[in-house]
This record gives sequence, structure tokens and C-alpha cells, in this order.
Amino acid sequence: MIDTHCHLYLDDFKNDLSDVALRASKVGLTHILMPAISAESSEQMDQCIETWEAFNTGIVLHKMAGIHPCEWRPGDRVNRDDLLHKASAPDICAVGETGLDAYWSTEAMAEQRESLDAHLSMAKELHKPIVLHNRETTTELLDRIEAHQDGSLTGVWHCFTGTENEARRAIDLGLHLGIGGVFTFKKTQTREFIKSLPLERLLLETDAPYLAPAPFRGKRNEPSYVAYTAQALADALECSLSSLVDQTTTNARKLFGLPPS
Ligand SMILES: [Zn+2]
Repeated sequence: MIDTHCHLYLDDFKNDLSDVALRASKVGLTHILMPAISAESSEQMDQCIETWEAFNTGIVLHKMAGIHPCEWRPGDRVNRDDLLHKASAPDICAVGETGLDAYWSTEAMAEQRESLDAHLSMAKELHKPIVLHNRETTTELLDRIEAHQDGSLTGVWHCFTGTENEARRAIDLGLHLGIGGVFTFKKTQTREFIKSLPLERLLLETDAPYLAPAPFRGKRNEPSYVAYTAQALADALECSLSSLVDQTTTNARKLFGLPPS
């Protein structure tokens, strides 16, 4: 099983990372992908990997490079050289997370857009997948993907919670959909149409420490909880847990170019 979106390097995991690692290996995780949030993330990820490797779980951590849309403030400028330098490193598996967010604040939308465009161009240039965050910006985000899509852009709409039409448009634009803890909530609309989507475009993720699945809703999320989302997804698709895990693992390996383990 692969957790394709996990902020494992944040302070939320500082005090019990070894327990988190143990639980992650018990549920059969093999890879955890870490999206960047800010310029500081790369150093935090390196420290996290160093600590993690001493636990000898066999679970491989992977880094991304990018700036989260909520990090932008009015007047900020994208440092393209720095971003390109970081994202082009061979141990960076994807560009992100980037995207748009009009929920927390709309005061830096111009800066968010400039950043998203820079990330999208870089992902294409580097032939690496893009990892997208979206909150109350669906149409604009998909319009921008469409404008950039020249057949070479791949990526994932992480923590997908949209409608069936939005899912279809995203898939038609070449995107994968990241299914996380929200999928386990009682009122999620995604469960109603998930069966009609191509299984080879679905990925599992936690977005830990955020968005813990049921029965841990509201608590700190962690990589091992991806098993609850996997079970909920298998139930909704009426398939076995093992075939769901096999398929989503294959999807993640292909998209992010992960070596077999
Ligand atoms: Zn995230």
C-alpha cells in the first residue's frame, strides 16, 4: 500500500515518529510520498528521512518540491530558479503541492495563480507529475490544467471531494484522483459515483496529519490510517481489499515512477 500524500515531516509527528512508523509497517505500507508546503519543507523532509531510516521499517519515503497555495501573500513573487533547482533533483518524485485555495483567503489569488502556472510549466519541463490542492476553486483549477495540457502533463487532484462531472473532467484532462479520509465520512458524495470511474486513476492518500478517516475523524491523521480509507474504497467498489490495494499501488508506482520494493 502507498500513502501518496502525507506531511510526515511536520512537527505533529515529532514526538512519536517511531510508533507511527511501526503502525505504518503493520498495515503493509511500502512507500510514503511527502508533498512540500513551503521553502522550509525540503530541509524538514531530509531530517524526517534521516530519523525514519533508523527505524528499519523498509517503508521508503519520497520527497516532492513545491509551495502550497495557502503560503502565498500579496506581493510575493515565485522564485522560479529555486523551485526549478529543488524540483529537478533526481530524488524528487513530483512537483507540489500546488493548486488554488479560495477558502482560507482570497487576498493572494493572483500570486496563487502565478505560482500554479510556474509549477505546471515545471512539471511538464521535468516530466514529473503535478500534485494539486483545490478548495472552492474547482472550475478555475481545471481550466488552468486544460490550458497547460499538451498531452505531457500528468498528476493528481489530491483529496478529491468533487462531483461526478468534476471527476470526469479531471480524468479526461489526464489527472488521477487522490482518495483520502473524507471518503470514509458518512455524507461524502464521492461514494455514490466512485464505481463509474476508471479504477486505474484512483490513488490512496492520508494528507496526514490532516483529515483523519472515520473512526478517527477530528484526530491527528497518520499513514497507517490509509488502511481505513482503502477498506471504505474497496467496500464502495465491491471488490476485495487486496485487489484494491494491488491496483492503487500499481497506479501510484506508474504515476510517480516508484521502484518496486
Ligand atoms: Zn497536503
